[in-house]
Amino acid sequence: MGVKELAMLSNGVVFPNPKHYKAHLAKLKRLSRILTRKVKGSSNRFKAKQRLAKHHAKIANLRKNTLHQITTYLCKNHATIVVEDLNVGGMLKNHKLAQVIADCGFHEFKCQLEYKAKKFGCEVMVADRWFPSSKTCSNCGHIQDMPLKERVYNCESCGHSMDRDLNAAINLSRLAFTVKAD
Ligand SMILES: [Zn+2]
Repeated sequence: MGVKELAMLSNGVVFPNPKHYKAHLAKLKRLSRILTRKVKGSSNRFKAKQRLAKHHAKIANLRKNTLHQITTYLCKNHATIVVEDLNVGGMLKNHKLAQVIADCGFHEFKCQLEYKAKKFGCEVMVADRWFPSSKTCSNCGHIQDMPLKERVYNCESCGHSMDRDLNAAINLSRLAFTVKAD
């Protein structure tokens, strides 16, 4: 997942990362800064603490609502959903991606998907984390290295050029058919 998108579907549909996040995160920083300046044990510190907690809860709610919209849409409109088992630990080491992954709450996403899949009668598959979804060319099957900074897949073998996440999403969607055919 790129910084701007929360999810990319194999048909090219993108769920963007909500724009309001940035403003909310800025406010979060501001409120924490205010808190550190208040005298310990003072009522002003208590109030600042409450304001910060309230804002934290607000962000958590917004995040949950965004995920609910996505997971409901996915389960209502698809018979099989393949998601990638993101190596969150590895991604957290990449500074730019850390905030996004933390924001998106991949675990929450998967939990919501699983219970809604039961409700709507669809199937959720989690691709093995070693499945080379990003490294494989969705056109010819060639496999090449794809450092995280490369946002476009340019196939060294067939010349196919495609958005990195879309290419990966297509590979994942095919996985559903491969497994089913076995
Ligand atoms: Zn290719």
